[in-house]
Amino acid sequence: MREPVLVPRLQPFTSTIFAEMTALAVRHEAVNLGQGFPDTDGPAGMLEAAKNALFGGANQYPPGPGRPELRAAIARHRLRYGTAYDPDTEILVTAGATEAIAASLIALTQAGDEVIVIEPYYDSYAAAVAMAGAERRVVGLVERDGRFALDVESLRAAVTDRTRAILINSPHNPTGTVFTRAELEAVAALCVTHDLIAITDEVYEHLVFDDAEHLPLATLPGMRERTVSISSAGKTFNCTGWKIGWVCASPELVAAVKAAKQFITFVSGGPLQPAVAHALDHELPWAEDLRTSLQDKRDRLAAGLADAGFAVRPTAGTYFVCVDVRPLGFEDAAELAWELPERVGVAAVPVKVFTDHPEEWKHLLRFAFCKRNEVIDEAVTRLRKLR
Ligand SMILES: *Cc1c(COP(=O)(O)O)cnc(C)c1O
Repeated sequence: MREPVLVPRLQPFTSTIFAEMTALAVRHEAVNLGQGFPDTDGPAGMLEAAKNALFGGANQYPPGPGRPELRAAIARHRLRYGTAYDPDTEILVTAGATEAIAASLIALTQAGDEVIVIEPYYDSYAAAVAMAGAERRVVGLVERDGRFALDVESLRAAVTDRTRAILINSPHNPTGTVFTRAELEAVAALCVTHDLIAITDEVYEHLVFDDAEHLPLATLPGMRERTVSISSAGKTFNCTGWKIGWVCASPELVAAVKAAKQFITFVSGGPLQPAVAHALDHELPWAEDLRTSLQDKRDRLAAGLADAGFAVRPTAGTYFVCVDVRPLGFEDAAELAWELPERVGVAAVPVKVFTDHPEEWKHLLRFAFCKRNEVIDEAVTRLRKLR
């Protein structure tokens, strides 16, 4: 066989940091605050609905665009932001947000196109842009006024006559930043001026803290018709293994994304779809309690990390908090991350793996706080030994 067998455009993506870190965590029986998944279940009513669907015969292919009751529930849910979507033509159910993002990029961008990606970025973005054959152009967040902010000047400078789309994730993994109205207005202005498509990853839409507010880009003037709004049940309802996501967009954009999606998975999660419909209609109070509890967990872990000697960065949403490792005498958070499981028994993820500019981001380490309090406390106790 010809070597290497993997096509060049996918060669940078052969391994994920999560698999490597999780393997290391398991080997050293470390508390794993690397990968972001909760260690408790979602709402009982949602699990019950899934069980009923599973035993109620919902085990064959659901309709291509998704089960009608789920599309209707997604449309009702989206109304909370004041945007109406037609469940029949403007909503598509996908295999998680991950497939929605990949199918959007494959359907809407191609070789010769540039896609603007904000750095640090969720790891699937770079791979999905590469699968689409397009090129990513990276714009870094900057630390300003005590938060990770969008540098509007750099964003503007990144737009070329080949730019086709901007991929925007807010609330933002890994930094926990929630983009402000002013930042989103600047993105919207660029999209309108240069006729760009916006693809938004809003999987943490319900997980915002303090006085932060999630503002969907599609609600801004001129954006409804050019935005592919993507979300998912995984983070809102503690069911990251279900992979039920969705796309809300204009009929033209949804039809395009569906053209790609239907030949990636066609459909998925048949019996889980009615359960997520139930959750969107009835379990948002549960999600509000989750939000409150995650905010407490953020405070708990942040206080512990500060106590352990890290310089903790503020986080306004998501599952994650980032820390600067330099006060503890380390230069490179990745070196520390590789040592941590064996040295103290904790796993975390270096932020630089989510970037094209590792030098600029090498001092930051990401911890997940979507864990039971005893797990967070144990991690903190172990991390105190670093001093
Ligand atoms: C978890 C996560 C996803 C993946 O969502 P799925 O619905 O599990 O595919 C996408 N984007 C971000 C930023 C995430 O953190």
